[in-house]
Amino acid sequence: MHDFMRGLFPVCRSITGDGNRETLHRIRQWIPLELHEVPSGTPVLDWTVPKEWNVQDAYIKDASGRRVVDFQASNLHLVSYSVPFRGTMPLTELRQHLFTLPERPDWIPYRTSYYEEMWGFCLADRELRLLDEGTYEVCVDTSMKDGHLTLGEYLLEGKIEDEVLISTHICHPSLANDNLSGIAVATWLAGYLARRRDRRFSYRFLFIPGTIGSITWLALNQQKTDAIKHGLTVSCLGDRGPFTYKRSRRGDAEIDRAAGQVLHHSGFDHEVVNFSPYGYDERQYCSPGFNLPVGSISRTAHGRYREYHTSADDLELVTPQALGESLSVALSIVDLLEGNETYANTNPRGEPQLGRRGLYPSVGGKDLEVEQLAILWVLNLSDASHSLLDIAEVSGLAFPLLRRAADRLLRHGLLEGLPDRRRAFGDADELSRPEVDVE
Ligand code: ZN
Repeated sequence: MHDFMRGLFPVCRSITGDGNRETLHRIRQWIPLELHEVPSGTPVLDWTVPKEWNVQDAYIKDASGRRVVDFQASNLHLVSYSVPFRGTMPLTELRQHLFTLPERPDWIPYRTSYYEEMWGFCLADRELRLLDEGTYEVCVDTSMKDGHLTLGEYLLEGKIEDEVLISTHICHPSLANDNLSGIAVATWLAGYLARRRDRRFSYRFLFIPGTIGSITWLALNQQKTDAIKHGLTVSCLGDRGPFTYKRSRRGDAEIDRAAGQVLHHSGFDHEVVNFSPYGYDERQYCSPGFNLPVGSISRTAHGRYREYHTSADDLELVTPQALGESLSVALSIVDLLEGNETYANTNPRGEPQLGRRGLYPSVGGKDLEVEQLAILWVLNLSDASHSLLDIAEVSGLAFPLLRRAADRLLRHGLLEGLPDRRRAFGDADELSRPEVDVE
């Protein structure tokens, strides 16, 4: 994932443009993404798809002809969506178009101006202080034309049409944690799920520019949103900070409970916070007219780390280990959703005799005791109304333990699945056939 990010890092992304297409094509080397091109001017909900923005070159030259600010050195130097401009001006006038971070004099800030026509440059404050009062040549060789907004989409069909939505933004230029880490984790998650043959849910992956991308997708796919039963926006997953899960607007959706369970038992430092209409595309998915069960997972939350939206959000800030941990948490959440089923105990009057079926260990041990406890909890609460996630929450036991217990009980015919949400094994008959004949 880190190597993949390294390849994507220099590409100049924005809400539209060739950099986004290149990014999606690179993702496509790993998963068979579908690209959708939506024309500029298309009305989308209360918005309009903007003109397409591309950069040929951008710089500021001093009197000697030296590039003192150069887009070729870092794409962060140019304010994203800067309109074309060429001219010469004194530093006093140029300053109105320059942005720095005086409190972090070595870092270049990241600025955008999507919906206001302007041009500007970002640079390290230390560099700005070295500029003398002279005349500077400014070149913003960009184009802003009718073109397209590019969306990347990958639908992995499962056994049922109910969907899990995984969405990540692709609109940031050379910044690593925000948003290349989200792109990398979503791509790898899709790769793993594609190889899983027992997928119950369908998975819809969206790689889209922030805000306008999700608004465009929602506008064009309103009829598909009913199928979305769970969802996550993924971003800022590569730093070493603790995990942050932001609940969906609903607050108690299955995804909210699943993410909470996984993080609680993960051993990683984490925080679970309530929904707020800020952050990434969960704002759109959770707007009241959609109110989809979509939460947001990150490590240090967006805007909460020093390097956020600066040149210090680079490939050093992101570690392979942190990316790997994030992927494992995302996979555990998916596993929980996949495995969260509701069963009925087939022998609900008194406990079934477990020892006879090899389900009660004759020799104790701490691990065995926990396995045992999981079996007793699943048997007791499987009354066709408690899901395994309910049982995890009541018992305090980790979900995978309960899932394993349920699988063992199913094999012994002591549980049965409900007809509408039956766990889809290769041989469904096996579920109802007890291994040990009572007679
Ligand atoms: Zn951002």
